[in-house]
Amino acid sequence: MRVGKPVKPLPHPNCDYCGTPATLVRAGDDAYPYRDDHSSLWLCADCQAWVGVFPRSTRHVPLGRLADARLRDLKAKLHAALEPLIAAKVRRDGCNVFEARAKAMKWLAAEIGADAEKCSIHTLDADQCERAIAVVERFQRARTVSPSEPAWEDR
Ligand SMILES: [Zn+2]
Repeated sequence: MRVGKPVKPLPHPNCDYCGTPATLVRAGDDAYPYRDDHSSLWLCADCQAWVGVFPRSTRHVPLGRLADARLRDLKAKLHAALEPLIAAKVRRDGCNVFEARAKAMKWLAAEIGADAEKCSIHTLDADQCERAIAVVERFQRARTVSPSEPAWEDR
């Protein structure tokens, strides 16, 4: 019998809340939480927690950890707080939005003491998300009071 190359095991995350293996669901499945197609998701139905997969990832590599309702809410808040900073950097430096977003996450990772290499909005837990939101808000306030405050990306 011919033995092929060892097949890399498919990534299969466990739920970050209860530890049971998550289920891969696609748009249209009964368990799929969105009405529209938001890509495939790793889902824990018991915790109503899920995370998307990397776009075009044939192996359905999860974007980060599973997020429950509270963490999804915090991620949306952080995203909303961060996007104006990112847009401003794109306008000012003419870089693309992915670059600007990566830089912003690096800055935030350093501020909250997370691993910058692996840090994205999808890898943060609720506590880190809250701290990141506070960092952005503090920065925005400082900027309003003294516009000469150094830009976040120059720190
Ligand atoms: Zn769970």
